[in-house]
Amino acid sequence: MDDEERGFRQSLWQKTAVGNSPYPALISDATAEVVIIGGGFTGLSAALHLSEQGKSVVVMEANEIAWGASGRNGGQVNPGWKILPAEIEANYEAGRGTRVLDLIHGACDLVFDLIERHKIECAPRRAPFFRAAYGESGKKEVDEWVRQWGAVGAPVTLKDDTQTHGLMGSTFFHGGFEDARGGSLQPLSYAHGLAGAAEKAGAKIFTNSRARRIERNGNDWVVVGENGAKVQAQYLLVATNGYTDDLWPGLKKQIVPVASLQAATKPLPKEILATLLPGGHHLSDTRAVMIYCRIDETGRFQIGGRGSAFSPTVQQADTRHLQTEAIRIFPQLENIEWEFEWGGLVAMTKNHRPNLIELSDNAYAGMGYDGRGIAMATTLGKQLAELVGGEDVALPRERLSPFALHEFRNLGVTWHMITAGLKDRFK
Ligand SMILES: Cc1cc2nc3c(=O)[nH]c(=O)nc-3n(C[C@H](O)[C@H](O)[C@H](O)COP(=O)(O)OP(=O)(O)OC[C@H]3O[C@@H](n4cnc5c(N)ncnc54)[C@H](O)[C@@H]3O)c2cc1C
Repeated sequence: MDDEERGFRQSLWQKTAVGNSPYPALISDATAEVVIIGGGFTGLSAALHLSEQGKSVVVMEANEIAWGASGRNGGQVNPGWKILPAEIEANYEAGRGTRVLDLIHGACDLVFDLIERHKIECAPRRAPFFRAAYGESGKKEVDEWVRQWGAVGAPVTLKDDTQTHGLMGSTFFHGGFEDARGGSLQPLSYAHGLAGAAEKAGAKIFTNSRARRIERNGNDWVVVGENGAKVQAQYLLVATNGYTDDLWPGLKKQIVPVASLQAATKPLPKEILATLLPGGHHLSDTRAVMIYCRIDETGRFQIGGRGSAFSPTVQQADTRHLQTEAIRIFPQLENIEWEFEWGGLVAMTKNHRPNLIELSDNAYAGMGYDGRGIAMATTLGKQLAELVGGEDVALPRERLSPFALHEFRNLGVTWHMITAGLKDRFK
């Protein structure tokens, strides 16, 4: 097993996931109106929404359902984007910014509505997201977040030191803000549920079915799978995010994949559980090399953060830096045993916003969530479905715009981690 496979196989989610169904591999030719490549939140949400429109859909997943980031993430249904409303408004042509802000505003609701509507068993919990401030610059940052997101109607509330210490069960950070739109879930179970709902609505899902080549037949797209079996369709959607390969020329260069690692403890004793994040918040902080953490439904403390600065791959063996950081923030975890460590790849974009890319006629890709994809990938999947359905969607269709010097991306990630870590020390 390589590091990537271990990063999926050894997660806490593998231990607790429900709702998985076996899906066949593509062994004979198929036709559909839409062929979707990638079986994570983006691809599955697109498949579900398209099937509900009555379109015939085939999903091709190279591994198993949610084998990518969707089955490995922190389970935090994070609201908002990393960039602020002013920048979002400035990034889009007149009128579009407001539509995009509305889309962002509804993203977490979409996830919880789907869970309710399709009765997806995935330990959903609607509890606020908390962004904890580190140092003076962190305080300024959260002030600005609350000012800007509050002004566009987001339910965000500034918290002072005392309130922060109370709701975190830690005196490490000084202030922060709460965003009531957030929540958490078991991500692998959520993906299983999306796949099940899509299949029930008529989608045909194939796993262990890597798309190897894309060809044209007249106006149709033909995707050639592992063993030569083909899917012919009018529309092509690529939803491969941080795991994008060379299937579509240049698409890989649209994003920089960055490793994110996770560690989880054994279920905590009741007396410690009562002192940690007692309001059920899930949080991240304002440092450039930040952590994110929460308590899951089994009472385990779970922390995530950067992988090795010197390797962009998922170096499975090593989450010791995260465990040390967890104890620095929450000393009550000092003697607690750690049980799981795993990781995966998130996809960073140049413009720090999710990209809906028009690859060619009737061919689109949706990707690049900067590590905040549960709500946004589900939303972008729905946008792709609406686009295919002929709607004028909120996100603009972007052209491929590759990172310059993409071949040196690993060097860039390493340099960023080192300089960002140094900056954090002086905050
Ligand atoms: C460790 C970690 C922690 C995270 N924590 C959070 C969090 O707490 N909250 C949050 O909102 N987001 C989080 N994220 C980000 C979030 O998980 C992703 O943004 C989201 O899952 C992306 O979904 P996706 O469907 O676009 O891509 P993925 O889930 O990565 O799926 C892409 C799929 O494409 C398949 N594929 C690739 N090439 C081919 C091919 N040629 N043919 C067929 N299939 C192919 C892959 O096998 C993969 O299954 C985290 C990510 C990681 C890695």
